Amino acid sequence: MGQDGRTGATMGKKYWIGDVRSGSHDGENVELKGWVHRTRGSNKIRFLVVRDSTGIVQCVAKRDLVGDECFEALKNALIESSVVIRGVVETTEREHGYELQVTEAEIIGPVNPDRPFPITESAMEEADGGETEFLLDNRHLYLRTSRMTTMLKIRSSVFGAIHSYFRDRDFIEYQAPNFVAGAVEGGSTLFEVPYFGKKAYLTQSWQLYAEAAMPALERLYTMAPSFRAEKSRTRRHLTEFWHAEMEIAWASNDDVMQHGEGVVRNIARNLLEERSEELESLGRDISLVERYADSEYPRMRYDEAVEILQGKGVEIEWGQDLDYSKEKVLTADFEVPHFLTHYPRVAKPFYHRPDPDDSKYVLCHDLLAPEGYGEIIGGGERTWSEDEILERIDEEGTPRDPYEFYIDIRRYGGVPHGGFGLGVDRVCTWLAGADHIREAIPFPRDSRRVTP
Ligand code: ATP
Ligand code: MG
Repeated sequence: MGQDGRTGATMGKKYWIGDVRSGSHDGENVELKGWVHRTRGSNKIRFLVVRDSTGIVQCVAKRDLVGDECFEALKNALIESSVVIRGVVETTEREHGYELQVTEAEIIGPVNPDRPFPITESAMEEADGGETEFLLDNRHLYLRTSRMTTMLKIRSSVFGAIHSYFRDRDFIEYQAPNFVAGAVEGGSTLFEVPYFGKKAYLTQSWQLYAEAAMPALERLYTMAPSFRAEKSRTRRHLTEFWHAEMEIAWASNDDVMQHGEGVVRNIARNLLEERSEELESLGRDISLVERYADSEYPRMRYDEAVEILQGKGVEIEWGQDLDYSKEKVLTADFEVPHFLTHYPRVAKPFYHRPDPDDSKYVLCHDLLAPEGYGEIIGGGERTWSEDEILERIDEEGTPRDPYEFYIDIRRYGGVPHGGFGLGVDRVCTWLAGADHIREAIPFPRDSRRVTP
């Protein structure tokens, strides 16, 4: 974003470090507002690296230019103090090509020397539970580091790309309740909450309530948190994650897959346009993201995947769902995302529609990301006739009561329809090339942590 996009900023913030660094204020007198990122120097000259949301720049303050009072204040400005600094932008041979010759400065929010900014190399090394736990304990402060800031910008572009994909195609954004009475994805990951003397659950997915609006809106989507009590801690499960879901009337499994492929390609394309620099700074191989933005995603039936896995010596029996250990092996050699379709009926919940050609299977799909990342989308066609949904609910042994509203959707003008759910945090993790899903969300929640 250029400076124009940021006009109207509050409290007269007019200049952005990113613009200074891109050379658009060369030789000008500017006022920067930001935070002290690094500081060093002598009694005569101070080098302060100042950060704002757009970047960092070195500011050089000389005692004889800024005066004693200002110089002393800058000398005492510790890391993460907030500052307003005025000066002239100059080109330099040093690190970033530009620096600021300081003429005036003010410390706005000082940092108490008795409580310096806790995130330091040595503190991480000495931390009791190791660096990871230390950074999670200090997550509220860790957000300011360049790695997290970069991730959060990438994440924002992923959200933007999902909204624009659906809105550009006339989907209506629609919201479902988060307190619900029934499961979508099986009872074992339901969060139970006391609800005025009764029990309620936190929603695992928007889907069932989206299906209720399908006859009204026909094309709908959302981005909202879903909650799953995932007991085992893995690299790709959170207990609260961001779920992009869509539901579409008069659609087959194939139609839904086309949208899944479309939205993922749109995310990759948008990242290349908006965040190439950020991806590179994380060490991501941009050519891979380009490939994901441009290629078609092949389709493979579940049976074929099982054969491949058995060929690789993985123990798997027909009928089992693929867990992460299996997806990892399967996707390690993939060059692009692949759809896996036609899972066994016994492996999937009641809402998946049995394949009319062979009812041992359901018309569903998972989209598996390459490089060992595994599932990022689960979707398919929904069971849409009353008889069939009752049969599926009963064969699963699920009580009908909480799903009466869901069955009603079939009683009043059922139509073929389908949809998918995409794990937004997983997509961020994969496209940014991160190791762990917690890197891709500001405050990750898992079975051991709800703080800070
Ligand atoms: P998995 O087998 O990996 O647990 P799932 O089959 O339970 O996934 P779905 O119910 O199909 O997942 O949910 C749709 C999408 O939501 C998944 O493809 C994934 O991207 C995302 N997702 C599901 N559970 C989680 C979670 N606990 N944390 C983060 N993302 C998740
Ligand atoms: Mg799951």
